[in-house]
Amino acid sequence: MEFGIEQAEREVLAEFRAYLDDLHAEGFTPAVPPLVRPDHAMAPEDIAERRRFIQRLGRDGWLGIAWPEEFGGRDLGYLAQWLVIEELSWRKLPEMLMSVTMIGPTLMRAGSDEHKRQYLGGILAGDIEFCLGFSEPGAGTDLAALQTRAVLEGDEYVVNGQKVYTTGAQYATHIWLAVRTGAPDSRHRGITLLIVPIDTPGITIRPMITQADYRTNEVFFDNVRVPVANRVGDENGGWAVISLSLDLERNLNANLQVRELDEIIEWAEEPDADGQRPADDDLVRVELGMLAARVEIVRLMSAQVASLIARQEPLASEASMAKVWSSETFQELPSVALDLIGPEGLRSVGSAGAPVHGLPELDYRESPVRKFAAGTNEVQRDIIAQRALGLPRNR
Ligand SMILES: Cc1cc2nc3c(=O)[nH]c(=O)nc-3n(C[C@H](O)[C@H](O)[C@H](O)COP(=O)(O)OP(=O)(O)OC[C@H]3O[C@@H](n4cnc5c(N)ncnc54)[C@H](O)[C@@H]3O)c2cc1C
Repeated sequence: MEFGIEQAEREVLAEFRAYLDDLHAEGFTPAVPPLVRPDHAMAPEDIAERRRFIQRLGRDGWLGIAWPEEFGGRDLGYLAQWLVIEELSWRKLPEMLMSVTMIGPTLMRAGSDEHKRQYLGGILAGDIEFCLGFSEPGAGTDLAALQTRAVLEGDEYVVNGQKVYTTGAQYATHIWLAVRTGAPDSRHRGITLLIVPIDTPGITIRPMITQADYRTNEVFFDNVRVPVANRVGDENGGWAVISLSLDLERNLNANLQVRELDEIIEWAEEPDADGQRPADDDLVRVELGMLAARVEIVRLMSAQVASLIARQEPLASEASMAKVWSSETFQELPSVALDLIGPEGLRSVGSAGAPVHGLPELDYRESPVRKFAAGTNEVQRDIIAQRALGLPRNR
């Protein structure tokens, strides 16, 4: 299945691969794996290294290649962008997925002229990066229950409250923040969207380390003053802006596992001291064959979503299906790899001689998280049931 990937898009990918090879040859990209697993970046030097790489991508014109030329992009199409993101994902290099594919396009549609001037160029240069301040301790799936409060005083909002799971707050420059401006029970009719520089006085970021060493954060707001000009959309009209960004977020689940699979296959082809290869065992071959089929399905589903977006066709449940299949395959992969490798597979990333660079052990711990991020799989299944199967909504 080709999904309309054209010669022009293949040429963009070939150009990008050659570009990354050159960066690697000049010693610019640290060795893989894992460069700085983007969301693991915790130490200031990791964060600086991440920023330096992204700014280089920006300077060389590789961020926002699907953006229209009027906003500084290269108008190369969504599929080309998807291929570029897939390549970065394969090489375990950082990208600014959220800012480039979600926040930027939302600003193009819902931002003021001043917002476009102020933020779009900075995103493309890799200087401005957003994190997402939606979830709260009492508002995850039920986002309309959020209670972080913003009160208008003169030409500023004063924000108080707490966000949770704010991934990337340690390296972002701005937070895309959903706040309550209506009555506490006003649900989706009382929410406003603000852009807040992360270094604004009154913001405290506290790390939350997940079971996979993956860092996310709690973010506290104590009388944080935000100019009214930083509001995107109308006061109490933030739900429309949030819905737009969430639609874009779900559409970009290009969590590809191709790299992990390739590494496991390499392990299976490596002969031991007696010249025996794991791949000579029929059972190993069957397991790897099944994994390869699953991973190929993930690729095809993601490509289908990218292709629908590229053709500006409506998405019903395709993004949800790709998300469920992708996150569950990501869990299956290290589980099978650990079964095949045996106890040696439990050695972690960074320990000398760890099979497959320690990725199965790390991925095994990380994989359950994927079922939550970008909307839980239970909720995605609800969407599939309603939109694809036409089943009634559960009340
Ligand atoms: C590692 C990680 C990174 C994240 N990054 C971000 C981020 O950067 N920014 C951000 O704003 N948020 C982020 N999130 C938050 C994420 O979006 C929420 O965890 C998710 O929406 C679920 O919300 P919750 O954790 O409050 O669980 P809950 O909403 O309390 O859900 C608990 C369980 O109940 C189920 N459930 C709830 N409602 C329904 C329903 N209607 N039908 C069926 N089942 C239901 C859920 O599927 C889940 O299994 C992140 C989460 C994780 C784990």
